[in-house]
Amino acid sequence: MEISGMNFHGQQIIGDTLSADSEEIFQGIKPKTAQSLPGDFHEATNDEIDRAVTLAAESFDEFRKKSNAEKAAFLEAIADETLAFGDALLNRASAETGHPLERCAAERSRSVNQARLFAEMVREGSWVDARIDHAEPDRQPLPKPDIRSMLLPIGPVGVFGASNFPIAISVLGADTISAFAAGCPVVIKAHPAHPGTCEAAAQIIVNAIKKCRLPAGIFSLVHGRTVRVGTELVKHPALAAAAFTGSLKGGRALFDVANSRPVPIPFYAEMGSVNPIFVLPEALEQRSAEIAAGFITSLTTGVGQFCTNPGLVLGMGDSQGWENFRSTSAQLAAEYDPQTMLHCGIHYAFEEGVKELQHMGGLMLASRSTRDPIEQKSEAACYLFETDSEGLHHHPALFDEVFGPVSTLVKCGDPGDLETFANQMDGSLTASIHGTEQDLKNHSGLVSILEKKAGRLIFNGYPVGLEVCDSIHHGGPYPATCHSYFTSIGTRCINRFVRPVCYQSWPQSALPPELQDGNPSGVMRIVDGERTRN
Ligand code: NAP
Repeated sequence: MEISGMNFHGQQIIGDTLSADSEEIFQGIKPKTAQSLPGDFHEATNDEIDRAVTLAAESFDEFRKKSNAEKAAFLEAIADETLAFGDALLNRASAETGHPLERCAAERSRSVNQARLFAEMVREGSWVDARIDHAEPDRQPLPKPDIRSMLLPIGPVGVFGASNFPIAISVLGADTISAFAAGCPVVIKAHPAHPGTCEAAAQIIVNAIKKCRLPAGIFSLVHGRTVRVGTELVKHPALAAAAFTGSLKGGRALFDVANSRPVPIPFYAEMGSVNPIFVLPEALEQRSAEIAAGFITSLTTGVGQFCTNPGLVLGMGDSQGWENFRSTSAQLAAEYDPQTMLHCGIHYAFEEGVKELQHMGGLMLASRSTRDPIEQKSEAACYLFETDSEGLHHHPALFDEVFGPVSTLVKCGDPGDLETFANQMDGSLTASIHGTEQDLKNHSGLVSILEKKAGRLIFNGYPVGLEVCDSIHHGGPYPATCHSYFTSIGTRCINRFVRPVCYQSWPQSALPPELQDGNPSGVMRIVDGERTRN
């Protein structure tokens, strides 16, 4: 089967072999037409999953002992091979998700830049957080032993990507790249909503592995349309950790599987979020229309299919500013032309979520796209609901994510309401505040609450759009994630796939280079309490 210059074999990729033991097959679907795309993808059997994870475990020692330079070269090879692969990757991703080609190209750039960013970090080497406390044999009342520690890779990692980022949060996403950067083999559960894109991306990684002469077993990809495949992967005794991006339902189910294993493993789930925006009085007075325009752009970009989509806007309602904000938002929502969602399942969930909001007492529809969406094309209209403090108080379900271009405006009567609701809301990936510096001073209580509720606090900006860099944190308290300490984007996400190992009274010659007195790797370390490269 061929599309845009690519043939799809539809098999499991287990190291350097292909496997199609099961005759149960499925196809990628083009959401715009509901037609099947080329390629028959075989559901992975339990035996195939076992072979993939076993191979990953067998290749772990050889891979983790590669030098920083070799690991960095591998990440750069992934970036180069991604570009060299050409537009077949983008064409397939666009066909399988309905995302425009430009969006797919932007995702590819993000993946390429991300692989290079991790390569730089691995080559430099200080990320291993080496710490040395020299012995003090004469210390009284007890001698102090020589203690040294650093971060070491954890072992084979299972990766589950999300349907909304077929390139940047899937096979070529931060989970895979950061696991490789740490020195961990990876087994991917391909997303059934973009199986062809997953196969193409897997081919890119296989090409990079061959180019760098690394053990083939460090990468496998298994397909599955049923939850059995992902569940078996997480249950496999040789898996050391798993990373997931997707829905709360899926993430929580797999988190429970990971924790009920005889030997539980860390399961890092990044899930959905309501991403509230708080609009404070001076901002409403000064630039209500501008904030409304930015909000609607953030709400509708990518048909609202972002984990950072703003699902709730809270503001002081007794002002002309709020009225302007409300009416401009309503007008722009009405102008939004319905667009195709990622797949019919997500479209169905969106329609159901909107129906629930429509039947919620105390909630009114403020606006909806003027053009009716076309059901057969899985199109979503933009919906804006509105309520007041009382309505939100009676419907805590408004704090739950509805994935798509829908949001609720909450008119608050009292500044204390903002704090009350901030306290009530669940953990969130982001929280945004629009205001002046004086507004921030006047609402310092709100800021203090949001610091406890969200992973990223945005001032006079919007939640959609994420910079991949050293300081980003893409995470947050449950249910945004299962472990609020960790991020799934940015260089710090490598910390999910390592564990500290401490060497006590160990001879110099047997220590990893980063912990030897001479510091042959030249990394930054903490030596006897001082941060130094010496
Ligand atoms: P999804 O339906 O949860 O799927 C994600 C992956 O998990 C798929 O491979 C899916 O495989 C698997 N899965 C789901 N439920 C499972 C279960 N019970 N047991 C085993 N495997 C299971 O999510 P999605 O629809 O692709 O993505 C949309 C969601 O992702 C939204 O809620 C969005 O907010 C969230 N998201 C979060 C982030 C973030 O960084 N926090 C980023 C992007 C998206 P099957 O399809 O085979 O079940």
